[in-house]
Amino acid sequence: ERMVTGELQDEDQTIEQSLRPTTLNQYIGQDKAKENLKVFIQAAKMREEPLDHVLLYGPPGLGKTTLAAIIANEMGVQFRSTSGPAIERAGDLAAILSSLEPGDVLFIDEVHRLPRTVEEVLYPAMEDFFLDIVIGTGPSARSVRIDLPPFTLVGATTRAGLLSAPLRDRFGVLSRLEFYETKDLCSIVERTAEIFNTSITKEAALEVARRSRGTPRIANRLLKRIRDISQVNGEVAISLASTNTALEMLQVDDAGLDHTDHKFLKGMIESFNGGPVGLDTIAATIGEESQTIEDVYEPYLLQIGFIQRTPRGRIVTAKAYQHFGLRWHE
Ligand code: ADP
Repeated sequence: ERMVTGELQDEDQTIEQSLRPTTLNQYIGQDKAKENLKVFIQAAKMREEPLDHVLLYGPPGLGKTTLAAIIANEMGVQFRSTSGPAIERAGDLAAILSSLEPGDVLFIDEVHRLPRTVEEVLYPAMEDFFLDIVIGTGPSARSVRIDLPPFTLVGATTRAGLLSAPLRDRFGVLSRLEFYETKDLCSIVERTAEIFNTSITKEAALEVARRSRGTPRIANRLLKRIRDISQVNGEVAISLASTNTALEMLQVDDAGLDHTDHKFLKGMIESFNGGPVGLDTIAATIGEESQTIEDVYEPYLLQIGFIQRTPRGRIVTAKAYQHFGLRWHE
């Protein structure tokens, strides 16, 4: 398992529950999304109406699920959570929706993976709060209309472009979550240290933040491992030295990259002279799925300028060559 992927891993489960902020004020960073939501939440509360449907998109581990739960909390309603692949049939969706209380938040993670048949049933539910369900088959089949309590759907996806246009259009609020700035990740690391009942020096917190790929989930995961090393070293506060030792053991490099990123970048450098090379070709070369590369590896590498997308494919930049101590070609 990768230390520096934003995707949820088994070891995260034990810590994440206690680390989740529960109000917008505790939610660090993402100022644009927060400001937006604050206004919408306040307006909905004043009108005593449920909040409009919200689509949150961005790479894994940036806080979409956390924000969805915060929305419910701020609206003073229940939070129900499921995922696109978990809703297999229209009946599954009907069961969930008809069990909601008025105003509840239904969170659907990986909303782009809803089966098409379910998606079509969802449209009138989102728009006018009713379901049209077909009962029976053949000549005796008939459609029944079920009225629903008004609710707020909060959908999460890695890229808004993965959604079909009709589904995307039914969200009133679209919010893109960005990679966190180092100063915000520093605050997250310090907050997590406090919850872990330990403390961390400023330099150490900065180092963790710098190497966490702009992703809170990664910062928290790394901090948990670093704390162990620090404790073994008998420290009162987590030091920069322990942090560096731990990150070296975990094989997280100075830029927050691991062997998987190295394989990806070096694969492009060694087999394709740095590109341009098409996504599917790289995927086949390093034995990974194209979608994982696009959603999980690439966004951060693009953000720090190690790769670029061109119409002819991906290219590795001079900056990445420099990172590996390699000479770049023109
Ligand atoms: P996503 O749904 O985008 O994959 P999550 O909401 O599950 O991400 O967030 C992963 C973890 O990161 C959470 O458990 C939480 O502890 C932490 N986290 C995310 N966003 C923030 C934030 N803005 N402030 C503090 N912690 C955060």
